Amino acid sequence: MKLHFWGATEGVTGSMTVIELPEGNVLIDCGLVQGEKHALEKNWETLPFVPADISALILTHAHLDHSGYIPKLVKDGFRGDIYCTQATRELALVIMEDSAKIQESDEGKKPLYVAEDVNRVLSLFKVKEIGKTFPLAGAHVKFQSAGHILGAISAVIDCGMRIVFSGDLGRSDDALILSPELCPPANFVVMESTYGGRVRQGILKDELEKLLVTAYKKKKPIIVASFAVARAQLLLTLIYEFYQKHPEYKLEVFIDSPMMKKANRVYKKYAEQTKHPEDLYEAIEQANVIEHQKEWDSIKKRTDPFIVLASSGMVTGGRIWRYLANWQDEDNVILFLPGYQAEGTTGRFLSEGGREIADGEGRRITWSGDVVHSDAFSSHADQKELSDWVSSNSKDAHVYLVHGDFESKQSLRDNLMSKGVRIVSIPKHGEVLELIEQSQK
Ligand SMILES: [Zn+2]
Repeated sequence: MKLHFWGATEGVTGSMTVIELPEGNVLIDCGLVQGEKHALEKNWETLPFVPADISALILTHAHLDHSGYIPKLVKDGFRGDIYCTQATRELALVIMEDSAKIQESDEGKKPLYVAEDVNRVLSLFKVKEIGKTFPLAGAHVKFQSAGHILGAISAVIDCGMRIVFSGDLGRSDDALILSPELCPPANFVVMESTYGGRVRQGILKDELEKLLVTAYKKKKPIIVASFAVARAQLLLTLIYEFYQKHPEYKLEVFIDSPMMKKANRVYKKYAEQTKHPEDLYEAIEQANVIEHQKEWDSIKKRTDPFIVLASSGMVTGGRIWRYLANWQDEDNVILFLPGYQAEGTTGRFLSEGGREIADGEGRRITWSGDVVHSDAFSSHADQKELSDWVSSNSKDAHVYLVHGDFESKQSLRDNLMSKGVRIVSIPKHGEVLELIEQSQK
């Protein structure tokens, strides 16, 4: 049995690992590479394996860097089943449809896939519940909760030996999503390391509450650059909960993103799978949706404070730009950037004090308002949480670190070794590892 490390070995996107099981090759995740232009080019390279040779795909969660290449895989000949949870299936469709739309509108590049290709993926999904074992390619697979975002799982594969794929792991104290289940005793663990080098600073609730009070007292609108999936629903819930306790500070809340609206529908449907189903449901119900021109016409003239969540989360495109343009000369306004801002993005530039920005069409804006950036908003486990996840039961496992930059992986490796984890490796892109040989060492 072998593992083939194809994706997310040199960064945090484009997750793709193949495991050879007794009766077939199974792909774990099938994500798009994201980031700066030269990184994106990788998505157009030929795959290092033949899609038709893959008998099944396990999708750990819906994020684009785990699901975004699926329509292209199907277009190129993959016909196997796609195993995931029901919530992941629905969120992944929202994400893949949005990705197709963005690609179709990019005139400079031939799209990897279009909406029609996304439709072809639909019939391949085989939904599985967390905690229930099912047979796959001569092995047995069980999903366990990974926290992170709605529907996310880690995959536990048994076939004489046990291999665990962490997927992306969430925080133990996430305000909305349940904590990840610890890694069970295993022979091999393939785990993410996004925040492998960091211990999170700041307390999310405190930072948000301070901002809400300031906005109310100083009469400042808050424009939030938010990811449409997971981040938006967490923010809406926290804002709702704060206003329940402190109605005296209440401002009207809006969302302005078609994708956010779709994701909200899925979160509402599966609210029971979160820590605060009623608050989540009510928060989404009460948020005003900006859909039509007349709603935009009315909000853009407002002089009183309000809150709006618009995408994209790193200000790389989307409707956030019309807010930046409309309020650019206003200094009594807050741009809130909750969460990690990747290198090279406008969000990063603004978070570091930059104020002269340009949108996708080259229109220049000088932002005069405040910029508040918070690192406390992340759906990823930090170093301590990652380390506890694997070292609690699986010190004897051979651990492979993926999905992190090199420094994060090195730092997490040192931390795991200090906790007594037996072998920790950092596989390279394209590396193929024989699992039997490794376990006999
Ligand atoms: Zn993720």
